[in-house]
Amino acid sequence: MTGTVDAAVTNGSCMCGEIRFQVTGPIRNVLQCHCVRCRKFTGNFTAASGASSHDIAFEFDKTLKWFHPAEDANVAYGFCAACGSSMFWRLLDADDGHWSIHAGAFDDAVGLSTEAIWYADHAAEYTALDPAPPH
Ligand SMILES: [Zn+2]
Ligand SMILES: [Zn+2]
Repeated sequence: MTGTVDAAVTNGSCMCGEIRFQVTGPIRNVLQCHCVRCRKFTGNFTAASGASSHDIAFEFDKTLKWFHPAEDANVAYGFCAACGSSMFWRLLDADDGHWSIHAGAFDDAVGLSTEAIWYADHAAEYTALDPAPPH
């Protein structure tokens, strides 16, 4: 079970500011994913925190778009159509309503740490993997 950081409010945004959100509740510690999709989506790898969708409120989200891979329509990748920031990942049929939130989208999160590295064997050869978290 991944740990969480209890924060009253955590603010997040994309690079251009057209997407702004607040998380009111615990945020998950960071999981890295080096799978091919995450490499393509982020430009290298995903470093994702996360939260319950019930705790996420958008101030602005007009430019939030979702991409569904053709071979896996249950998966949704959220990004800003104006500036291209990759921001969210979720499963449409997730019972728990959990959303992954790319940790770089947070403006003011404190206390997060990286707990695990997924698909370490798929990491690009130029990526130096942290040996500390479990792979
Ligand atoms: Zn943007
Ligand atoms: Zn991945």
